[in-house]
Order: sequence, then structure tokens, then C-alpha cells
Amino acid sequence: MGFERGFIEIKRIEQPHQPVEMRIRHFNEFISTLSDKETVLQAGRCMDCGIPFCSHACPLHNVMPEINQAACENNFAKAFTLLEATNNFPEITGRICPALCEEGCTLSLTDKAVGIKSVERKLADYAFEHGLVKARPAPRTNHKSAAIVGSGPAGLACAQELARLGYKVTVFEKNDSAGGLLRYGIPDFKLSKKLIDRRIRQLETEGVTFRLQTMVGSSDFEPGVHSDGTQLITAAELKAQFDAVVLCPGSEVPRDLPLEGRGLNGIYFALDFLIAQNRENNGCGPNPIEVKDQKVVVIGGGETASDCIGTAIRKGAASVTQLDYHEKLPENVDPFTNFPYWKAKFRTSTSQEEGCTRLFACSTTKFTGKGHLDGVDTVQVKWGPGRKITPLPDTEGHIDADIALIAMGYAHPSAALVQAFGLKTDARGNIAAPLTGEGAYRTSDPQIFAAGDGRKGQSLVVYALSEGRQCAQAVHQALSA
Ligand SMILES: Cc1cc2nc3c(=O)[nH]c(=O)nc-3n(C[C@H](O)[C@H](O)[C@H](O)COP(=O)(O)OP(=O)(O)OC[C@H]3O[C@@H](n4cnc5c(N)ncnc54)[C@H](O)[C@@H]3O)c2cc1C
Ligand code: SF4
Repeated sequence: MGFERGFIEIKRIEQPHQPVEMRIRHFNEFISTLSDKETVLQAGRCMDCGIPFCSHACPLHNVMPEINQAACENNFAKAFTLLEATNNFPEITGRICPALCEEGCTLSLTDKAVGIKSVERKLADYAFEHGLVKARPAPRTNHKSAAIVGSGPAGLACAQELARLGYKVTVFEKNDSAGGLLRYGIPDFKLSKKLIDRRIRQLETEGVTFRLQTMVGSSDFEPGVHSDGTQLITAAELKAQFDAVVLCPGSEVPRDLPLEGRGLNGIYFALDFLIAQNRENNGCGPNPIEVKDQKVVVIGGGETASDCIGTAIRKGAASVTQLDYHEKLPENVDPFTNFPYWKAKFRTSTSQEEGCTRLFACSTTKFTGKGHLDGVDTVQVKWGPGRKITPLPDTEGHIDADIALIAMGYAHPSAALVQAFGLKTDARGNIAAPLTGEGAYRTSDPQIFAAGDGRKGQSLVVYALSEGRQCAQAVHQALSA
């Protein structure tokens, strides 16, 4: 159980962050990995409290007490083996997971949680540095094949698990590089794309084939859905060529804000901006959305909005204002609230820390300008029962803006794909497939499975990984019956 007086004597150690004034000058990762000594101390704070709520709160159910025990004994190789037994890409979750596990850490009731995520990152980085991450091709083929549609975390995890079980796996991806939102969405300062390239090489060594720029089902995507596709493969062709088809298309259709003035120049979906920046950082030409010296308004309160803020600041925006129509959450909450799950409390992302004005309970009512955006009209709102929003009288305002980025989340996967396969959807337009039970991950067509945001709705990388892994098991069970 870690060190006998671990958490009593050892305070939580945070990973070193580059200071704001330094990190906003580049797009590289700015958070460093813990040293060996810090990792031993951090892991030694775990008290192995008996009921590992942390493990329960993590969708992958990583076995933190055992991992921490091995790490605090300085046996990083053993700790990594335990970690990779449940998590395909811990170097990725160790960087960008919101660490649901730490909300479940019993220590967080009275003290700061064990830094589980920082230990995870360290173990993964250590394992790569010491050649412990090996491709594990299946010893023999089972002569069955699976097509995975979408190369985000759900598709990659599913592909890896199936390939290791002996399947011949082909991943179809409409974009020019694999990775889904890990590649085109999440900024490089949060996640270096070299980490994804490294994993793609591992998957290829394990026998997975990638067919890039290949659209499945349809090329008729909704506005705001990006595609580099040059080829199309139909649903019927895929079904004829593969024993099982797994759809992992993400939740790509962005929520729009169809207000007066929406047609003005200077208003973009968040991913138009973020994807173009990922491409610029990868040497594929400048981001056409120029925000240098511009007044930028980001509409939305989530992770995508934060990524727009950090990116706009690095691009030299004159100002960045975030409009969040939710009310400001309390700074302090009873530690038992929602335990062991996510606590609804006020948080500041590293991008918000870099210098933006945050306005809460502030709803956009109109985009203003002549030809090009020059501002947004707003009103303060009050939230009532049943999530009813009421505008408050005499609270109308106006914010000058040259660029508006709409980061209001994603509704569902592209309807064209779902229709091409003739699948049932849930009430929100996600691919209908149960999470558990007899037909887990199976859609209304028994040959077709679904996992990740395209099934669950927009979520997190850790859930996508978990669904991808479980879906692989569901496919295996179905094809082994
Ligand atoms: C800007 C942004 C930042 C985020 N930051 C975080 C974060 O910090 N931490 C976190 O945990 N989560 C974050 N998320 C959420 C996280 O990225 C997603 O939950 C996760 O990537 C979903 O994985 P997925 O595999 O289901 O889908 P995706 O990653 O969306 O991948 C789906 C893939 O399917 C492909 N595809 C779709 N349709 C077709 C088709 N018809 N033919 C061929 N290919 C197709 C797409 O091109 C895409 O590559 C963020 C999301 C966004 C938008
Ligand atoms: S994947 Fe996320 S929730 Fe799970 S242990 Fe790692 S940081 Fe925690």
C-alpha cells in the first residue's frame, strides 16, 4: 500500500508546466513528464483503500492500486505491464484524459487526489524510452476479417484488439491521416502527433491495414464535417468483403447557431479552425482563418472551446472572449458531491489560464456586421427547472468581434453513413446499439457493430478506447459462436 505514511507526509506533485508567457509562443506540448523519483513518491501516496473507486471511475478500469504499488517499488516495467493490460494508449490518456479516476480517489475527500494521470503518462513514456512497448502480432490468423470505419481512438483500439485476436483488420478513414480527433481536432500543444504516428506504425506491424482518404457509405456529408476523401466504398461492398463491419465514425456533425447574421464572413465552426491549425503545424500550409490582431469570440463552454482559446492566443489574437451560456459553477463543492464521479465545480483549463475573458450565463442573440462580422449581441440568461433558459430583462449587451468560433458541441455522426447501412438510430441520431447484454455493440444489422462517439454521443477519448476494446470482444464472441 504505497508508503506507510505516504499521503500524510508526501504532498501531491504536479507535473511541470511551462510558464504561460513561454508556452504561448509555440504549439509544442508544454507539460513535462514526472521524473523517476517524483513518480515513486506520487505513486507512494496511494493508500490502497480497499474499494478502488478510482478504478471504478475510470471507464477502462485501470487497476490503479496495483499499478501504483509497482511504481512506488520503482518497478516501472511491471507497472506498465499492468497498465497496458487495460489501456491501449496510456501515453495519450496520460496527456489528455480529464482523469475521472482522480475524482474517484478516496484521498480526494480530504486531500489532493493521487496524481494517477501523471503516473500513467510517466509509465507510458518510460516504457517507450526503454523499448518495452512491443508490437504483438497474433501468433496465427483465424481467417476472419473485420472492417473498421473511422480511425479515432475507438477505431484504433478496436482494430488493435481484433488484430491481436487473429483477425485480418482493415481501417477505412476518409481523412488523409489516421487518428480521428486525436489527429485533426485536439491541438498539438495538448498532444504531439508523433505519438499517434508511433502507434499507427505499431498497429501496422500487428497486421492492421489503413485505407486513407476512403469514404464509406456516402460522400454526402453535412456542413462542418471534414473529408479528404478521394475514393468511396459502398456499404454493400464492405458487407460483402468483410465478416464484420465496425462503425466508429465519431460524432462529427457540429451544432450550429442559426441566428440573424450567421451568414456573415468571419464566423466558423471550431473544427474549421482547429483542423487547419493541426495541418499548418504539420507543414501543410497556413491556417486560412487568420486571427492575428483580431478580436476573437469563442461561443461554447467545453473542451473544444478551450482548444480554440489556446490556439487563438498562440496565433496572436488581440483578445479572446469566451461566451458560455451555462451559469458559473461554484468554486468549492462538498467533496462527497457526485463522488466517485465528476464533480460539477468551476474549473479553469490551461488554455483559459493563458488569458481569455470568460462570460457566463451569456447567450448570443445576433451576429452583427455588414458583409463581415463586427460583433455579437448577447443577453444574460437564467437557468430554471428542466434546463429552461430565460433571458433576463435589461441585460442585453454587445461584444466587438472580428472572428467568431462556434464550439457548441456535436450532435451525432453523419446521417449519410448511417442511412447508407440502413441502421436504426437513437433519439439523438447516434447509431443505435446497446452497451451491454446479449447484443452489445451490435446495431440493427447483425453484421454491423458500432462503438465510440458515433454510438454513445460526443464524449471522451477514454470512453472511446473502452468502447473500442469492448466492441472487439463483442465481434469476437459473435464470430466465434
Ligand atoms: C476539439 C476537441 C478537443 C477534444 N479534447 C479532448 C480531450 O482533451 N480529452 C478527451 O478525453 N476528449 C477530448 N475530445 C473528445 C474526443 O476527441 C472524442 O470523444 C474521441 O476522439 C471520440 O473517438 P471516436 O473514435 O469515437 O471518434 P473520432 O475521434 O471522431 O474519429 C472518427 C473518425 O471516423 C472518420 N469517419 C467518419 N465517417 C466516416 C466515413 N463515412 N468514412 C470514413 N471515415 C469516416 C472520421 O474522419 C474520424 O477520423 C475532444 C473533442 C474535440 C472536438
Ligand atoms: S484513462 Fe483517464 S480515468 Fe483512466 S486511469 Fe487514466 S487518467 Fe484516469
